Amino acid sequence: MGDDSDKRCVFCAIIGDEVEAEIVLATDDLLAFLDVRPVFKGHVLLVPRSHVETLPDLPAASRDGFLAAAQRLAMAVKDGLGAQGSFVAINNTVSQSVPHLHLHVVPRTKGDGLRGFFWPRVKYGPDEMGQYAARLRAALT
Ligand code: AMP
Repeated sequence: MGDDSDKRCVFCAIIGDEVEAEIVLATDDLLAFLDVRPVFKGHVLLVPRSHVETLPDLPAASRDGFLAAAQRLAMAVKDGLGAQGSFVAINNTVSQSVPHLHLHVVPRTKGDGLRGFFWPRVKYGPDEMGQYAARLRAALT
């Protein structure tokens, strides 16, 4: 493990070869392995080797490589497993059970029973949509 690893982190332990995992992609900066409790078989987790907790913590220099690997994995679940598509997601802090950045690539096929992760939807009140957009635009400037 490198100096930036967290000894209590299970994904750092996988990166450090101390915990077994089914590795599917390994580069100097990244590792991708099968999720041990997959939503569907072939569900992959992509992690940076450096211990960063959430997407905002990922250094700018690592972003392109991370997204490029995500693209490759999204193609691999189609080409290698016959999935029609994929669901690609990152939990940041909330619902994040392992505090080491990881991107899920879940193989998807029509009729697989996963209906948009059963996300609840809410309705904006009058003028509220514009207010939310303005707050986000302000945060982005
Ligand atoms: P999240 O809930 O977004 O933080 O996702 C964490 C994922 O890590 C879950 O889907 C777990 O099944 C998976 N996971 C936890 N420990 C391991 C492990 N040792 N090897 C592979 N996947 C793991």
